[in-house]
Amino acid sequence: MSSYYEILEINDDATSDVIRQSYKKLVLKHHPDKGGDIKTFQKIQEAYECLSDDNTRAQYDNTRAQYDYLQFEDANEFMNMHSIDMSDIFNNIINGFGLASQNFSKYMEEELNIYITVHLTLMDIYVKSDRSINYQRSIITNNGKPASLKENTCWKLCKECKGIGTKTYLIGPGYFQKTICEACDATGFNFINGCKIENVNYSLEYTIPYGIHDGYTYIMKKNGHVGFNKYNKKFQTGDVFLIFKYDINKTNEILKDTYNFPNIYISAVHSCNIDYTYEANIFEFITGTEFNLALPNGEIIVIIAKNLNSSGQIKGKGLPNTNCSSTAFGNVNIYFGHRRIGEDIHLPEFDKIALKRMMRNYYPKVINGSIIELTKKN
Ligand SMILES: [Zn+2]
Repeated sequence: MSSYYEILEINDDATSDVIRQSYKKLVLKHHPDKGGDIKTFQKIQEAYECLSDDNTRAQYDNTRAQYDYLQFEDANEFMNMHSIDMSDIFNNIINGFGLASQNFSKYMEEELNIYITVHLTLMDIYVKSDRSINYQRSIITNNGKPASLKENTCWKLCKECKGIGTKTYLIGPGYFQKTICEACDATGFNFINGCKIENVNYSLEYTIPYGIHDGYTYIMKKNGHVGFNKYNKKFQTGDVFLIFKYDINKTNEILKDTYNFPNIYISAVHSCNIDYTYEANIFEFITGTEFNLALPNGEIIVIIAKNLNSSGQIKGKGLPNTNCSSTAFGNVNIYFGHRRIGEDIHLPEFDKIALKRMMRNYYPKVINGSIIELTKKN
């Protein structure tokens, strides 16, 4: 996905004048009246609304910084990737010199972090709600109780390797050999006073903010794993990253269970705008139709669509907007898709014009699959 800066074709440190000039140029180029693509045009508008305001721009930059740090779609991918990298880096330490320990420090810190994806339905966005999360973290314990991370209370630096975990021998002029330190089992430290590393169940309370946006990452400092950092020669604690993700499938399931409006579902969410797709049959494309739509905030909207060949929009009924726009809520877009009529209705070579004439005075509504209810227009 392109950043707002990329959309506006500007650098991240562009001044407000540069932003405005580039926006004006792009709007002229992509205006739908001049044959431009409506989606591109909307993206440009959205990017400009965000970046032209210092507050929303700062907020956006902040979120992006967190994203850049994560850089991965989900936590699982992140974890897997690091477990692979870890072994490589370990080999570097055993076999190489210099920079490897510095890299190790960086990876070590990330390895101590815990990444948890929290799936939110769109209903969760409208209320500020308290939740708790249970997870496992490894900490130092003494008799089953959390213990101090301070040196010489629970652990001592390994005397043999001075905390590096490896030993280096001079085996000839200019030739060195590295081996794993056996005195500390390559960890760089030894536990004392019966302390040990243990996996414990942990729980954290947090609040889902009102209007939270997809991908928002909340960092709970010092609630991650505890581990020994060979570079700093001390124990440290990682952070917990809560990554909030919209769950559109679950949202649709709940809407279906609650309202059971047929043939309509949420097909996408773009920042605060919700896209619905209504799967229409051939009659509806000819005559127009009428259907109900349930919003995630519990509102029901009756849609009367006369022309299904273009999309529709309801302004200000989208998600609460803390995500770059001048309005309080995003919009609802409605798209129409084709749906095949059930196998039991056969209309071979039907005459579309005749059908259109015949159907002109009715609203068709599909009850299920192939049963169509016709409502006479007033
Ligand atoms: Zn050692």
